[in-house]
Amino acid sequence: MNAQRVAAAIEATALVKTYTQGDEEIRALRGVDISVAAGEFLAITGASGSGKSTLLHILGGLDRPDEGQVWVEGSALSDLDDEALALLRRRRLGFVLQFFNLLPTLTAEENAAFPLLLDGAPDALDRARLSLERVGLGARAAHRPAQLSGGEQQRVALARALVTEPAVVLADEPTGNLDSKTSLEILELLKETAEDGQTIVMVTHDDKTAGFADRIVGLADGFLEVRPK
Ligand code: ADP
Ligand code: MG
Repeated sequence: MNAQRVAAAIEATALVKTYTQGDEEIRALRGVDISVAAGEFLAITGASGSGKSTLLHILGGLDRPDEGQVWVEGSALSDLDDEALALLRRRRLGFVLQFFNLLPTLTAEENAAFPLLLDGAPDALDRARLSLERVGLGARAAHRPAQLSGGEQQRVALARALVTEPAVVLADEPTGNLDSKTSLEILELLKETAEDGQTIVMVTHDDKTAGFADRIVGLADGFLEVRPK
């Protein structure tokens, strides 16, 4: 492990991922290198089907690459067994995946507490309340998802991603199903999170959304390329 790998919050080299569908081979990633510094807000843009979700899932250890390597805070994910990987995902990474993914029978506070409840943290609900306050939803802690607007539900999802104070937040189209005003609120919160020192990797098909990040890279034909801001 070299010094550069320790310095990056999340880094990957030579990622390859190919799917087979019947006779067809879909080469989603063909050699992706990426390095994101602590406190950086990176956007990865690309058309629908360009491999953005595939890349984000591999970076977060939700899926394994066919080739290549991912390091989170210097730990190579391929060195971890399933249990160690699950712990790293839960404690060092925060996920904001498409369509909120809140449990409908739980309150906002219980949804936000979920990663801590899985870990048996005794102060899970208190920390969830703080995380909800951080995203401006302290007054809605006892509401269930059906009682919240789309933007509020996405803020609960963000509070859940932040509740463990993860090193890296991975966000997949975090504004995908929101109107422009609530999108702006979510993007501002992501920006503030990066300013607080956490690393954000966001994938989006939308150039305007990507413009909120510190740095933009594009994904096309299975490779990443630098895009001007
Ligand atoms: P994006 O998020 O940019 O829309 P994805 O990463 O979801 O792209 O998908 C990239 C390509 O890989 C697409 O052609 C998609 O159909 C294909 N793909 C994604 N996941 C699977 C899978 N589990 N099995 C087969 N093909 C897949
Ligand atoms: Mg996607």
